[in-house]
Amino acid sequence: MPETTSSSGLSQIWQSALPQLAKRVGHAACDSFLRNAEVLEFDGETFLLGVANEFARNWLAERHLPAISSCLSELMEKPVHVEMRVLQPEANPLEPPMTHTAPARPVAAGFGSTPLNPKYTFENFVVADCNRFAHAAAQQVSKSPGKSYNPLFIHSKVGLGKTHLLQAIGHAVVEHNPGLQVVYISAESFVNQLIAAMRDNHTAQFRRRYRNVDVWLVDDIQFIAAIKGPASEEEFFHTFNTLCETNKQVVIASDAPPRHLQLMNDRLRSRLEMGIVADLRCPDVETRIAILDKKARSEGLDLPREILTYIAEKIESNIRVLEGALLKVCAQISLTNEQPTLATVEELIADYSTAAAPRTVSIREVAEYVADQMECRLEDMLGPKRNQEIVWPRQVAIYLSRELTNHSLASIGDFFGGRDHSTILHAYNKVSALLETDEEVLWLINDLKSGLQA
Ligand code: ADP
Ligand code: MG
Repeated sequence: MPETTSSSGLSQIWQSALPQLAKRVGHAACDSFLRNAEVLEFDGETFLLGVANEFARNWLAERHLPAISSCLSELMEKPVHVEMRVLQPEANPLEPPMTHTAPARPVAAGFGSTPLNPKYTFENFVVADCNRFAHAAAQQVSKSPGKSYNPLFIHSKVGLGKTHLLQAIGHAVVEHNPGLQVVYISAESFVNQLIAAMRDNHTAQFRRRYRNVDVWLVDDIQFIAAIKGPASEEEFFHTFNTLCETNKQVVIASDAPPRHLQLMNDRLRSRLEMGIVADLRCPDVETRIAILDKKARSEGLDLPREILTYIAEKIESNIRVLEGALLKVCAQISLTNEQPTLATVEELIADYSTAAAPRTVSIREVAEYVADQMECRLEDMLGPKRNQEIVWPRQVAIYLSRELTNHSLASIGDFFGGRDHSTILHAYNKVSALLETDEEVLWLINDLKSGLQA
């Protein structure tokens, strides 16, 4: 292995570590802190990781450093260390300054908005039957923001291109109308901003800031619906209405259509449905090959069709996972400097394909296994008891049922003693949140998952 790896090689290694890291540190932490991080140097022993800010560095250093170095060690097949440095925005040539972060536009300050990922453009988006409508609506909106569909609501399962499309709109608007103020923000960070504003008695300022926004791109709105209380939903509704009424463009991405969101506010739900609702579905195998091909070329690689087809056939349901597998192959090429054989590829992506293989475990199997491992009775888990000794295993079993089966919240609820789907969602969210902060929960869930999938 070369002592120093090229920067595109480093970036490929990092990209291919992300799916594993997301499992270890949780998706939210991964999306907030790791996805935008970059490997600055690797001297054969130590990875120097550039992270966006002090907050990200402390958060990762306190909680996730061991997970990061163990993932990278596995990937490099030898023990490596990890050090972190805060990236200076000026010193990061990969990220062209975005309109909404430019100092000349004070309105963007403090929005908690994230810079657009330069790769998430319309040019890099492969259009096919599974996404044609959403893509057309997104293009239309980017050409005449605020004048066509308002809001545009895009929904799909995870990893099918919502964030990509949202940001593509942002790029296109900035390109065609540099004067317009574009804000891309996750619903989670909107809520965090709001909480900070309420804490500091700055709610009025918080609202005022939004007056100058022309295009508001809000990602993962299910957060507002599922986790936080009425205040954040009200505030979101307020901002959303104000913008729509002044003909500003709002685009929303969600993991579920408006009617399935757990909203307390019916007016909000009906407003969300007033514009255009478009979904993204799983791409067919031809489309998956086209996406891989495009991605490989953008990484400067021309991979044999046979290999692309193999990866595309193995991984069906999530484009992010598909790309993760491809990046792992790219990382291998940049480490060894040779084209891999099909057998090598098979071995390399074995993990990924099992993750995406059709899930065969049933809700009953999950519940029985969890009851057995956590030493409680299945009848109690499915029954009405609400003491802590049974509530926790039940929540864990519900979480795993949602993760490992394709059943809807409603049918999981039916199985767990006829509980309604908001109870199921609450249990799911509770365990997801603990996964981010509590190592013990992380290991528990990991062990149960591997036991169930073995
Ligand atoms: P979501 O927000 O729905 O979870 P993302 O937008 O993050 O999904 O997409 C996951 C990955 O798949 C991203 O790297 C994105 O660039 C890629 N991707 C999704 N759809 C397409 C597509 N149609 N063409 C090319 N790449 C795509
Ligand atoms: Mg997304």
